[in-house]
Formats: sequence, structure tokens, C-alpha cells
Amino acid sequence: MSIKLRLYRKKRDFAKTPEPYGKTMAKTKAATKKTSKPKALIFVVQKHDATRLHYDVRLEIGNVLVSWAVPKGPPRKTGVKRLAIMTEDHPMEYGTFEGIIPEGEYGAGTVEIWDSGTFYNIKEKDGKIVPLKTCLKEGQIEVYLEGTKLKGPYALVKTSFGDKDNQWLMLKTKAKK
Ligand code: MN
Repeated sequence: MSIKLRLYRKKRDFAKTPEPYGKTMAKTKAATKKTSKPKALIFVVQKHDATRLHYDVRLEIGNVLVSWAVPKGPPRKTGVKRLAIMTEDHPMEYGTFEGIIPEGEYGAGTVEIWDSGTFYNIKEKDGKIVPLKTCLKEGQIEVYLEGTKLKGPYALVKTSFGDKDNQWLMLKTKAKK
């Protein structure tokens, strides 16, 4: 069983919520095969009308959807920064989930897909792409989003605000020449 999804599953009662449980993630040959081509990964932004309306930004990293709750929604203009609170990893199947989480359950409210598409890792160091898992660990993610609403380069940067360990900023960055 995936360690990554343990928290996701622990928070939910799958007899009551329509959210996906998520497959167990035995590594497939395709997933372990090394390729030099940049890989198009998937992203989704879900509008989540819970206790407080927010937008959940999810990026495919290491076969799960690494997730942030963005209260004001992802920025559309270059230079605009938005607070992004990191939440638990979600299963890949969550990328197509829409539905109503019942009253009394974790995250109760309506979930709808606000935008989705593919993205590329564009974080470079010394002319080389930095692996996404390293970017995540270092709190410095740079991606190029190819969605319907969100297009172009974005950054997710971990902050050291306050005493919490989950506060990031999401910003739309300038295209590199
Ligand atoms: Mn949410």
C-alpha cells in the first residue's frame, strides 16, 4: 500500500464519500523506465465549495497528485502571488473527480473541475532540469501549465511564514526567453 495515500484514506470514509479510494501503486515497467524526453504530466484545478470556497491545485509528481488549497484561486496575471496551503497527496484518479462530498464528511461540499491539462517541469539548475521530487523537497517548483484557463509558466514556492510547515505561494512567472 502506498504510504503517500495513507493520510488521504485516513481522512475519508469511502462508504460515504463518492471520492476515489485510489489504486494501490505497484510500479509498472512504464513508470520505472527512464526516458530522456520531457514528460507531459497531468494537473487539475478543482473548485471546491466547502466550508470555505477554495481551489485545489494538484500536480502529478511521483504517481500521486501533490495538492495545494488556494483560497483565492490560481493567479491569472504575471506577478500575482496567491497563498497555497499544501494538503495531503491525492490519488491519480482524483484528477477526473467531480461530485458532492456529503455533509459531515471530510471536505463536505461540491467539487468541480475548474481547469485541467498537462504540465512540464521547467526548473533548471546548471542547465539541467531538476527532478520534480527534488523541487518538492526544496520547496521550489517551476512548471509550464498547458490547461484551458491556466497557460504558461508558474511557480510554487514554499515560504517560511509563521510556524506552519505547509504554506506556499503560487505565482505566475514571466516566460523565459
Ligand atoms: Mn479542497
